Amino acid sequence: MQIPFNKPYLTGKEAHYMYQAVTNGKLSGNGFYTKKCQQFFEQNYGFKKCLLTTSCTDALEMCAILSNVGPGDEVIIPSFTFVSTALAFIRQGATIVFADSYANNPNIDADKIEGLITKKTKVIVPVHYAGIACDMDKIMELSEKYNLLVVEDAAQAIDSYYISPKTGVKRALGSIGQLAAFSFHETKNIISGEGGMLAINDDQFVPRAEIIWEKGTNRAEFFRGEVNKYSWVDIGSSFLPSEVIAAFLWAQIESIEDIQRRRSEIWNWYNENIETLFPEFSFTKPVIPKFATNNAHMYYLVFPSLEERTRFISKLKGKGILSVFHYLSLHKSPYYQTRHDGRELPNSDRFEECLVRLPLYYELAIQDLLNNLSEEHSS
Ligand SMILES: *Cc1c(COP(=O)(O)O)cnc(C)c1O
Repeated sequence: MQIPFNKPYLTGKEAHYMYQAVTNGKLSGNGFYTKKCQQFFEQNYGFKKCLLTTSCTDALEMCAILSNVGPGDEVIIPSFTFVSTALAFIRQGATIVFADSYANNPNIDADKIEGLITKKTKVIVPVHYAGIACDMDKIMELSEKYNLLVVEDAAQAIDSYYISPKTGVKRALGSIGQLAAFSFHETKNIISGEGGMLAINDDQFVPRAEIIWEKGTNRAEFFRGEVNKYSWVDIGSSFLPSEVIAAFLWAQIESIEDIQRRRSEIWNWYNENIETLFPEFSFTKPVIPKFATNNAHMYYLVFPSLEERTRFISKLKGKGILSVFHYLSLHKSPYYQTRHDGRELPNSDRFEECLVRLPLYYELAIQDLLNNLSEEHSS
């Protein structure tokens, strides 16, 4: 049997809640299920205000609009990330200053950020790669010292935490920066096909976020009865998902503990057995800093060279197991390379060439993996 890289997991309740949403008679956004989902996240993870969006890309675009950046402003972003992290700020006309990763961890190297800050810097965007926290104490110190906004790209980081080494306080990722963006794309831990969420932790952004969310109108206030008509008051777009999507997401939320438990089981199994499974390869395993928890979003390995990674991927492919790599360093992308300031980002480039992700999804049976590994497959 072929083992895919990802398989979206259905809890079994999705169709039921979607049917309920349809019979509720309200299909557009910001209804019963949207509010239920938003309240869950606010109450369980300590976000001050949540707004569901149609994707994490959309939530990041809302962050970029809220941060008021424009031409001449600089935004610090790791180069080793998905394109959306940068795209949102580029659309507002800002300049991206790409930062390197740590040598042993794909997250932004917090000790190198200060050297990138100029008078034009407005925002830092830490990306919690694989759901593992960036060094948020250091990043929030820079935020205070230079008066910068911190937008957490928490696309992969639902239900994961940062434990401050200074205070011992444990906080959910996405609740630390002033703003944060989550993804419910089908490749993430909890899903709605396409979907996302903006988390707002600084009250001052709430009123404007609601307006940007609803096409630049004060419709949210109108529905709460705070104004007696709604009108066009700012820029915005249609960032909110329909109730059908929110109903799907609600089914996933109800099973979040079970989903996280199963993903952790698989993650831990990989981590304990990986050397024994592949004695003919050398590689390094994920590094989880003391201040970070692990939400088992991703199991990845880092090989000593591109050639070794290629050999590993073909070996798995020969066994009917699909593994994938990402990201292509954004500072070298066709779109940005001529705009980049020319600094070398060697760690980002190394993860681009040497990192590989193994299959990790709820229904992945370890016995199937073992069966595939013990026999030749024609693929
Ligand atoms: C998945 C992902 C995104 C984009 O999420 P969408 O919901 O597909 O828009 C952005 N940033 C990171 C780090 C991601 O992993």
